[in-house]
Amino acid sequence: MNYISTRGAGIGERHTFSDILLGGLAKDGGLYLPNEYPKVSADELARWRALPYADLAFEILRKFSDDIPDEDLRELTRRTYTAQVYCNVRDEENAAQITPLKTLGVEGGAPLSLLELSNGPTLAFKDMAMQLLGNLFEYTLAKHGQTLNILGATSGDTGSAAEYAMRGKKGIRVFMLSPHKKMSAFQTAQMYSLQDPNIFNIAVEGVFDDCQDIVKAVSNDHAYKAQQKIGTVNSINWARVVAQVVYYFKGYFAATKSNDERVSFTVPSGNFGNVCAGHIARMMGLPVEKLVVATNENDVLDEFFRTGIYRVRKSAETYHTSSPSMDISKASNFERFVFDLLGRDPQRVLQLFRDVEEKGGFDLQASGDFARVQEFGFVSGRSSHDDRVDTIRDVFEQYDTMIDTHTADGVKVAREHLQAGIPMIVLETAQPIKFGETIREALEREPERPAAFSGIEDLPQRFEVLANDAERVKAFVAERTR
Ligand SMILES: *Cc1c(COP(=O)(O)O)cnc(C)c1O
Repeated sequence: MNYISTRGAGIGERHTFSDILLGGLAKDGGLYLPNEYPKVSADELARWRALPYADLAFEILRKFSDDIPDEDLRELTRRTYTAQVYCNVRDEENAAQITPLKTLGVEGGAPLSLLELSNGPTLAFKDMAMQLLGNLFEYTLAKHGQTLNILGATSGDTGSAAEYAMRGKKGIRVFMLSPHKKMSAFQTAQMYSLQDPNIFNIAVEGVFDDCQDIVKAVSNDHAYKAQQKIGTVNSINWARVVAQVVYYFKGYFAATKSNDERVSFTVPSGNFGNVCAGHIARMMGLPVEKLVVATNENDVLDEFFRTGIYRVRKSAETYHTSSPSMDISKASNFERFVFDLLGRDPQRVLQLFRDVEEKGGFDLQASGDFARVQEFGFVSGRSSHDDRVDTIRDVFEQYDTMIDTHTADGVKVAREHLQAGIPMIVLETAQPIKFGETIREALEREPERPAAFSGIEDLPQRFEVLANDAERVKAFVAERTR
């Protein structure tokens, strides 16, 4: 398996899975993809149906990471996908499944269900990939005798998933910037209560955008970055995307009885990482009917899938919503899909994403490329705060199931794309406790809290408050990496 950039770099060069594991963008600014998607045969699909999650993950990942010896990869996946790690299940009986499928009911002739992806340590789907990344990073760094200092900015989900994945890992430190006093008490406690010496919470006196600007400033200081061995774990990381492919297969097997059936998935989307994994599963041969992209008021992606126009938003045009992990101005993994949509033509991808930088977007309607979107199964929809509140209430009343705001966006949009006889699987991306305010608004009651999280707000917290100043952050990191 060789990896190439969506903008053309690396064609004719050799880039293995391990080569691109620790990096971010390709050197030409593009995103890495395999030179071709591995295909799953009918025999394999039949055999995989019975596999436990960890072994299914092994079978899928080995197709993308053939430079890691099988016995090592098997050990890594078995250590990652355990009932101990994904222990925050709503129903104990499901603990061994890692991503249980919860059937809601039949609507419009279509079985409607939720694929629970948020039973990991931080109660959001990012754990599914990040936990594997922690183990892969530790393994790869040890092999090459290297260390890594991860620098990131978070307003919640990504940062805590990264910290819980990297805590206690040899050769890795995490420096996570978050806006001082701007996160919910629950999210603050989740991150700041970690006492591991390799985890550094930095509360920046500013807002989330300031934190992101500091990370950018540090990343642009190439000498510093190289000297301090700074890396990132953002959503464009290829290993994160590929780890997410696994649960599309798992969800398919749980929702069907035979491999002749087809299913649709609805994916609450922001940076297009999650649904990009669904696209890859489909390209590998998983029988997927529709991939439904659900957005909130930040509807960059819905606009594209309805009109063929991709128009990134300015930060002033980006709404702060009650499904905050989908509040994006541009979708950082979208380029991977555009590459496939355009028949893998790196010259055109390069031109289009130059247009994004220079003109704020591009239009594929006129060129006729947009018509091909259907061949890839994509459709979309958007949801608002009122839709979320209504959907949370409705799912609770009809199905006795409490869902979070992001999942509610998914259910709302899924209902607009049901097809009789085709199971619709909505990906559950977080647990309600993380977004309690909207639960209280919708249901006039407290969100369900998994047992492991009782009283976390009262635990001692470990964090450092720093001025909104990249130089100050650089000095802080340098003092701790000597
Ligand atoms: C990150 C996140 C999303 C969006 O996923 P993308 O891969 O960025 O599209 C949706 N819901 C929750 C809860 C998230 O944390």
